[in-house]
Amino acid sequence: MARLLLTLVSGFILVSFAPTLAPTVIPQEGCRRCDKRGVVPCSKHSEEIIAAEGRVHFCSVVAGCKECGGALVVDCKRCDGGPENAAMEARRTEVAEWMKRNEIEAHFGRPVSRCETDHCELVVDLSGSFKVGRSRVNAHELMHLVADDTSHVSQRVVEHFGVEEDDIFAKMRMWIWTSAEDHKSAVETFMHTSARGDFKMLGKDPVFSVWQEPGLFSSPGAIRTVFTHNVGHMLISNLFRERDVGPIGGGWFDAGAGHWYEYDRFDSSVQYCIEEATALSSFADGVWRAAMRKLVSRADEPLLPPLLDVPTTAMNVQQQAICWSFYDWVVANHQGKMRAVLRDLKQKKPTRDVMKEHFGMGVLQSEEAWKQWVLDTYPTREKKKRR
Ligand SMILES: [Zn+2]
Ligand SMILES: [Zn+2]
Ligand SMILES: [Zn+2]
Ligand SMILES: [Zn+2]
Repeated sequence: MARLLLTLVSGFILVSFAPTLAPTVIPQEGCRRCDKRGVVPCSKHSEEIIAAEGRVHFCSVVAGCKECGGALVVDCKRCDGGPENAAMEARRTEVAEWMKRNEIEAHFGRPVSRCETDHCELVVDLSGSFKVGRSRVNAHELMHLVADDTSHVSQRVVEHFGVEEDDIFAKMRMWIWTSAEDHKSAVETFMHTSARGDFKMLGKDPVFSVWQEPGLFSSPGAIRTVFTHNVGHMLISNLFRERDVGPIGGGWFDAGAGHWYEYDRFDSSVQYCIEEATALSSFADGVWRAAMRKLVSRADEPLLPPLLDVPTTAMNVQQQAICWSFYDWVVANHQGKMRAVLRDLKQKKPTRDVMKEHFGMGVLQSEEAWKQWVLDTYPTREKKKRR
């Protein structure tokens, strides 16, 4: 009661001495029920989802919530408000503005699940539930797993290349659709080209699009790994200069990167960017360290030189795994040089000059150093991964 009186008195003083401030704003303090916030969590979302939303900028699924409009909190019904109501209103407005910028929904004329992070604009237009480990997740939760995967890769790329704001030109647009028809329609409408299979554009304004193709991208594991793998390629193609080094002499670096970030997230690599879809085999079932150690210890001929001019998509699965391991060596031993290496490859500087300049070794010496490091650090045996 004493506090209420004081509030009234100070409100009165404010009014009498500062008439220009009308209408009088009496700070509202909330109540015990809302922890003096004036707002309470929206009951439509789980704690896990509220936490996941905190890791993305926007998500269309919660933006469509009739209770909170994506603010994730609603007015406390036990009091007249508190210090956080203004922020809630501001957030609702911000979310509504973001929802208006939506060519994709406008094109399809229906809600399309999508979210935005620091570096990506993701569409995960799926429905139903998915088995992840021992639990089941719905399509919205799966989208957030994918968002967290791509954010993990983005963070690693930022660290490895010392990325600053000006170094990156676009947000990575990555889409998965339920039907092949929607995939084709999106690619035709937004990329002005036709796609029979997966679609990937690197370099300027990177885009990746697939659909829930049975046997290929239907399981949550396949969906997560293909996004994780490709966001690495996309980010690298967009850094410093909008140019994909995969086909211009930097295939060894680009192939290595795609696998490395996938491996870093899942402790295995199962996605390959190979032009010939008939080559659906895998190297060592995706678990590579012990297998690579064995390959290196038995190799009579140098492994790297034959790969240096091969475009990423023309390599076979073993060649891609070799590139992964070499990239692994670069990350472990020359991380501070990765920025310079990528910049030079984008200028089409020959690999042997790049290695000399930044690793202080020619191609064969680099190969020797890498092989020795593999023998010193990779295990001789490794468990198969359960899938
Ligand atoms: Zn309250
Ligand atoms: Zn969400
Ligand atoms: Zn809500
Ligand atoms: Zn790849």
